[in-house]
Amino acid sequence: MSGNISPSPKKPGVTAQDNLKDICVAGITPFTTIDFPGRLAGVFYLQGCPWRCRYCYNAEFWPLPDRQAGLSSAGPGVPLDKILEFLKARKGHLDGIVFSGGEPTLHEHLAVWMKTIREMGFEIGLHTGGMAPERLREVLPLCDWVGMDIKAPFRLYESVTGVKGSGSLARQSAEIVLQSRIPYEFRTTFHPALLSERDILELARELVSMGCTHYTLQMFRPDHCPDKELRESDVAITGISASLRQTLQSLFPDFSVRE
Ligand code: SF4
Repeated sequence: MSGNISPSPKKPGVTAQDNLKDICVAGITPFTTIDFPGRLAGVFYLQGCPWRCRYCYNAEFWPLPDRQAGLSSAGPGVPLDKILEFLKARKGHLDGIVFSGGEPTLHEHLAVWMKTIREMGFEIGLHTGGMAPERLREVLPLCDWVGMDIKAPFRLYESVTGVKGSGSLARQSAEIVLQSRIPYEFRTTFHPALLSERDILELARELVSMGCTHYTLQMFRPDHCPDKELRESDVAITGISASLRQTLQSLFPDFSVRE
């Protein structure tokens, strides 16, 4: 594991439940071999994301949690005692837990969760869109792997996320991930109605200039996509051209296409 933050202080009378109560876990995938490379993992989906990517597969997690009530507007989430039961039962059977969402780095107490779960013997994976660079910087030392979505060339981010300034936040986060030297994957979802091959090439060159060596292009999948127009787009999703594939292979030592 790669953490260098000291373990949570053991204050008398402070229980694991006290440490964990402020995060809304909207759902759990109990077992996956694809969300944390090389590990058997469980996935915790944290509630809330203010971006509105048209291809989002997890739009049910968009509503932000109501901190006062400890609930999300989409529902109460998984009760904490069930989460702790899950972790105890999977200890020794799963290698790690992945925090996904929604956007995990929006949660103020993410580091406390990660520390607590590491102390239980799990490795930690993180999926992020990079919208909270300072929280990302705080939690990265507790992570063993990070998968970061890179939505578009940074100047075009708003056209995918619908949010002004999102490109600048994502760029800062990508730099923080690269500087951390923690294993990572940068990945971009490709739909020809959102990004052209020229845009992908521009983005790839930006990433290379920042020092990125691991890059994946994942093809749009219509399942769970909230955008009817994209889902039913008659633009054929035929994948990328052979020449773009070749160029990307030559730019990144580790490049893959996820069909
Ligand atoms: S950042 Fe992620 S969770 Fe948020 S809208 Fe985009 S794809 Fe969905």
